[in-house]
Amino acid sequence: MATLQDQSSCFKRMPLIERYREFMPLTENSPIVSLLEGYTPLVRVDRLAGQISDKITLYVKFEGMNPTGSFKDRGMTMAISKAVEMGSKATICASTGNTAASAAAYSARAGLVCAVILPKGEVALGKVSQSMMHGAKVIAIDGNFDDALRIVREITDSYPITLVNSLNPFRIEGQKTGAFEICDDLGHQPTYHAIPVGNAGNITAYWAGYKAYKEAGRIDGLPRILGFQAAKSAPIVDGRPIPNPETIATAIRIGNPASWKQAEAARDESGGLIEKVTDEEITEAQKLLARTEGVFCEPASAASIAGVIKKAKEGFFTENCEVVCILTGHGLKDPERAKKICEPMIEMPADTNEVAKVMGLI
Ligand SMILES: *Cc1c(COP(=O)(O)O)cnc(C)c1O
Repeated sequence: MATLQDQSSCFKRMPLIERYREFMPLTENSPIVSLLEGYTPLVRVDRLAGQISDKITLYVKFEGMNPTGSFKDRGMTMAISKAVEMGSKATICASTGNTAASAAAYSARAGLVCAVILPKGEVALGKVSQSMMHGAKVIAIDGNFDDALRIVREITDSYPITLVNSLNPFRIEGQKTGAFEICDDLGHQPTYHAIPVGNAGNITAYWAGYKAYKEAGRIDGLPRILGFQAAKSAPIVDGRPIPNPETIATAIRIGNPASWKQAEAARDESGGLIEKVTDEEITEAQKLLARTEGVFCEPASAASIAGVIKKAKEGFFTENCEVVCILTGHGLKDPERAKKICEPMIEMPADTNEVAKVMGLI
C-alpha cells in the first residue's frame, strides 16, 4: 500500500517540509502529511508600487495560493505530520476561520478526527464551508476568538486531543518556510517584510525563519519587520488586551494574541515596527491591489499593503528598498465582503442595444 509520503512525492513539487527538511524537526520515520503546499508566487507589482512610492520595489507573496487558500497550510502540514507521528487520533483548534479550514483539510488527509471552535457570526463564509466540507465538527460559540482559544486550551489540558493552534510549536516551525521561499526567490533577504498581525504566530515564524536562514549562511542580513494590526483590534500597538476587538478583517480580529511577546521581539530585534491601519485603509488597499494588479486577497491580508501605503505617505521610505507584503489569504474566502464594497452589477434585459447603451458605446 502506498504511504502518505509516496502519495505526495510522486510529482516534481515536493511536500513543503520535505523541501526544507534540514530546517524542520523531522526524524527519519516522521510521516509526512502534505497537500503540496507552499511554493506560493512572489509577484512583483510595479503598477501598484508606482502609486505608492518611487523608492520601493514591491512584491506580494500570495499565500492565498496554498491548498486551503491561506498560509495556515505551511504550519498545518508540520503540526499534523507530528500529530500522526505521536499517535494522535484527534485534533482541535480555535479559529477565525483559516486555521479551522486548514486543520480540517489536513486532518482529513491524515484520517484524524477534527473539531474547530469558531466565534459565531464572525467567520467568513468560504472558511466555514471548508471546515464543514472536510468533515470537521464545527462548533460556533457565543464569544470571540480569545474565548474560543481559552476553551481549546482547557480541553486539550484535560483530554488526549492535539491542539493545532499556533501555540503548537510545530505550526511555527512549518511557517518558517515562507521566509525561506522569499529568500530563495529573491536570492537575498528583502529590506522590509510587511505582515498582518492577529494572534502573532506568523510574524513570529517569519522572523525565526529569516534568522535560521542567516545562521545557515543562506542570506547575509535580515529584513526589518513591519507588522500591522487593525485599528480597533490592536492590542500590541495599544499595549493592552482588547476585550471586544472589532474589524472587518475577521482573520485578525484578536484582542489578546498568544504570541504577543514574540511579536514584540521580532519588531525590536529587527529594528521594525508594529502599527495599526483602519478598516477604511484596509478596504482601499484590498481594492487597489485587485484593480491595479489582478491579485485578490482577503481583507486581513490587505493590512500589509495598507500599512506600506500609510508608511509611504508618512515619508518612511527614504532610500531605494525592496518590500515584501505577505498576502495571508485568498479573497474568495470572503466573497460577501467583496460584494459589499464594490459597485453592484447591472441587471438588464437580454438586448444587445441596451447592453451597448449601458457600456457607453451608444
Ligand atoms: C491567521 C491569519 C492572519 C493572522 O496571522 P497570525 O499568525 O494569527 O498573526 C492574517 N491573515 C489571514 C488571512 C489569516 O488567516
